[in-house]
Amino acid sequence: MTLAESRMGSITAHLDRARTARILCDLVRIRSQNPLDGEGEVAGYVARFLRRLGLEVETPEVLPGRPNVIARLRGLDGGPVLAFNTHMDTVPEGNGWTRAPFGGEVVDGDLYGRGAVDAKGPLAALLAAVEGIVRSGARLRGDLLVTAVADEETCSTGARRLCSEIEADLAIVGEPTRLQVGVAHRGSLRPVIVVTGRTAHSSRPHEGVNAVYRAVPVIQALETYGRALASRPPHPLCGAPSAAVTLVNAGIKENVIPGRCEIVLDRRMVPGEDEERTLAEVGEVLDRVRAENPGLEVAVERTIPTTGAPSELDPSHPLVGIALEAASLALGAPARLHGLSGACDMTHFRAAGVPCVVMGPGDEAQAHQPDERMSVEQLHQGALAYALAAMAACGVVA
Ligand SMILES: [Zn+2]
Repeated sequence: MTLAESRMGSITAHLDRARTARILCDLVRIRSQNPLDGEGEVAGYVARFLRRLGLEVETPEVLPGRPNVIARLRGLDGGPVLAFNTHMDTVPEGNGWTRAPFGGEVVDGDLYGRGAVDAKGPLAALLAAVEGIVRSGARLRGDLLVTAVADEETCSTGARRLCSEIEADLAIVGEPTRLQVGVAHRGSLRPVIVVTGRTAHSSRPHEGVNAVYRAVPVIQALETYGRALASRPPHPLCGAPSAAVTLVNAGIKENVIPGRCEIVLDRRMVPGEDEERTLAEVGEVLDRVRAENPGLEVAVERTIPTTGAPSELDPSHPLVGIALEAASLALGAPARLHGLSGACDMTHFRAAGVPCVVMGPGDEAQAHQPDERMSVEQLHQGALAYALAAMAACGVVA
């Protein structure tokens, strides 16, 4: 029997399916759509929950009315410090729901609601796990930092701030992975490419330079670039990089020749790619279009803020073994290594030099969808996996 197996019994006795589902229901009922609602109320719930368990809790504001929660369960003898982090904001409700998006209703074993998997499910599992550890009487050797951040869904202001403030030896980020262990994720870069023409009265188009027509070869070149990316050697867990034009804006009125056309490229990077080199690559695409179209005025004007760059962790790192064992015990089946298609806050921990994995209950495919739902059984497994991983990472006093 491994150490983690021997801890299973004592932790399982202090975890309860209905209790963990109740926490998730509470969280789903507190709206935290980004940017409509802010995270203040969820932060209040999380802070109260953890204070009641005896943790030292701070709630530093990262944006007006939008705090992070940083809670510390003090370890006994200076073992490794684990930051266990997830986010409190959700994407907006959106359309197409057949259940109440903020109801937290359980139907056929699934709990429905915006954020049920992304990421209030992982947050509820984390709160239940901490409660389980405290109630079990287990004494951790290193500090367990329980952190819940604001603004992951737009530009990760909360995680960027958190990672500049805390000191941790290891980190686990809670995002839905069906309890597989994420060691790599993609990242995004969104340049705004501007084609400049000259406005004129549309009854005399020859007096202007129509920026929409000038943008055509640029858009075509970006499409070709996107296709070429698909045939690059894929990352073993994250696949090939991609690029797509997602927004085109031009024109101010139906009777004015547009003097400016804005093109937004959504460039998804895989681990090994970085923002600077990728931006230079887009610049080279534009250089080629310029060379083929004399007089064309086109440039990257700015980039739209994103969650961040891609990142990864060497799968041989001990933290990966800890997470795999904890998840496998909780699932009752072997957990595997996983690559996330989207960006997440792991990148900010990696940028701060902290070894980090991503793991959580729930299916990533449910995220940002109508009728987002979390299996109550998987949620319970998530709480168990989180408790076992935290105890293994921080160490437990015998
Ligand atoms: Zn998320």
